[in-house]
Amino acid sequence: MSRLHSLVYLLPQLWRTLFTRPITVRYPFAPPEVPPYSRGRVVINMDLCRGCGLCVRDCPAFALELEREDDSPNSSKGRDKFRLIHYPDRCAYCGQCQDVCRYEAIWLTSEYVPAAADRDVLREVHYKSDKGQGTGDKGQGARDKGQGTRDK
Ligand code: SF4
Ligand code: SF4
Repeated sequence: MSRLHSLVYLLPQLWRTLFTRPITVRYPFAPPEVPPYSRGRVVINMDLCRGCGLCVRDCPAFALELEREDDSPNSSKGRDKFRLIHYPDRCAYCGQCQDVCRYEAIWLTSEYVPAAADRDVLREVHYKSDKGQGTGDKGQGARDKGQGTRDK
């Protein structure tokens, strides 16, 4: 094909491209669009969580940990006081924890998990105690307050 023929063929296409929206992802100039069924950040509702530990048992990535206040076999004291810790840096976002939970206390959202240089910062501590329940600050913050986590 001669050069002139090539130009005749290409120019209309180039012209059209100038006025059409790019089909590639616009990130980082716009937030990435994720499908609603994508598996992202893990959320735990401590109002619903009973501390049964099924999610911990079934997690293939060891991304969940359950710590009871008193875990001795002959004691029922402290059985309802516990911390459920999630490690997003280990999590495979497989959804097994959501599937196994009988109380619908844990589920995956389509939100991104932010990156961090320090893995410890990502750790999320959810606690249930005499003083109530909630989610401690992540990583170092929770340790500083001495609430909802323990030193690893
Ligand atoms: S999130 Fe569900 S499966 Fe995990 S400890 Fe709580 S109640 Fe049990
Ligand atoms: S999504 Fe999968 S890897 Fe992540 S905490 Fe749940 S079971 Fe574990």
